[in-house]
Amino acid sequence: MRVLLFSSQHYDQESFTQATGHSALDLHFQPARLTLDTAPLAQGYEVVCAFINDELDAQVLQRLAAGGTRLIALRSAGYNHVDLAAAQHLGLAVVRVPAYSPHAVAEHAVALILALNRRLHRAYNRTREGDFTLHGLTGFDLHGKTVGVVGTGQIGAAFARIMAGFGCELLAYDPYPNPELLALGARYLELPDLLREARIISLHCPLTEHTRHLINAQSLSQLQPGAMLINTGRGALVDTPALIDALKSGQLGYLGLDVYEEEAQLFFEDRSDLPLQDDVLARLLTFPNVIITAHQAFLTREALDAIAATTLDNIIRWAAGNPQNLVSG
Ligand code: NAD
Repeated sequence: MRVLLFSSQHYDQESFTQATGHSALDLHFQPARLTLDTAPLAQGYEVVCAFINDELDAQVLQRLAAGGTRLIALRSAGYNHVDLAAAQHLGLAVVRVPAYSPHAVAEHAVALILALNRRLHRAYNRTREGDFTLHGLTGFDLHGKTVGVVGTGQIGAAFARIMAGFGCELLAYDPYPNPELLALGARYLELPDLLREARIISLHCPLTEHTRHLINAQSLSQLQPGAMLINTGRGALVDTPALIDALKSGQLGYLGLDVYEEEAQLFFEDRSDLPLQDDVLARLLTFPNVIITAHQAFLTREALDAIAATTLDNIIRWAAGNPQNLVSG
């Protein structure tokens, strides 16, 4: 069976080639992102394997179905970028990787917190320039600080365990409280109360119509002055332009983003030779108390191996008429 992997990077080729072993799957790696323009590349491929910034709207799905595609195998947990109603209408099955390594994403969120708090990005540059002064590098003890976890599923729970290990007090917001968080001593609150009480807020909920712009000018105004916001969930959980005003006024003291609402045109590409056209991102990058990573929270060896193994298993089981990890609308 022929499988076309859109948006595939060198590390995808490595992990998928290793995981495919002697299976009958014929894998083809395509670095281009899936869009309406690139969809014809999938002509004759029964399976299209897509990642988070590939476009899977009704028009693209229609083009894929017309070219003979029957299965969309997502290499991600999130599926907010797929028009599921259109897929169903076209008879396209959609499968995903519900969990690969919650630790990878949770640990990256913690890496952002530590780097922002102890200003490692600034210290790294400073010492390399021969400047060994410490002004402007004062941090705070994480021990005893209040951390708000928004979305306490697999990643939120892994994150909460780590922060509990630092001696932080845990607050949580999720329509479905997780007993593991309660066992860690977390208090579930309504979102406005969590935003008011937490010194650090980390977003781990999916992007849905209810969570789009969950963090906006109004919710930012509820924060403690100087609070830290971490987003490793999805870019559109946050109304990004509102962050700029909050950073300028000092209401937001630290910002760590691994995801960005407009990332699809930028992330995973080397655009260092080109003028940055995105003025919001350009402004965010000027703040000394902001760290942006380009959707790399998932990027650990263990996560890549698990993504490849589950994706191939999803395809093989679907082909055998025994599908697993199906996504339905
Ligand atoms: P999960 O399904 O295990 O947990 C999601 C949790 O969010 C659930 O407990 C759910 O009840 C909760 N939730 C749903 N609606 C909510 C709302 N309105 N407010 C608060 N909580 C809400 O998913 P997970 O594996 O923990 O992943 C969480 C998200 O992380 C994914 O949806 C994805 O967008 C993101 N993610 C990012 C990366 C990355 O590399 N940056 C990698 C994987 C996943």
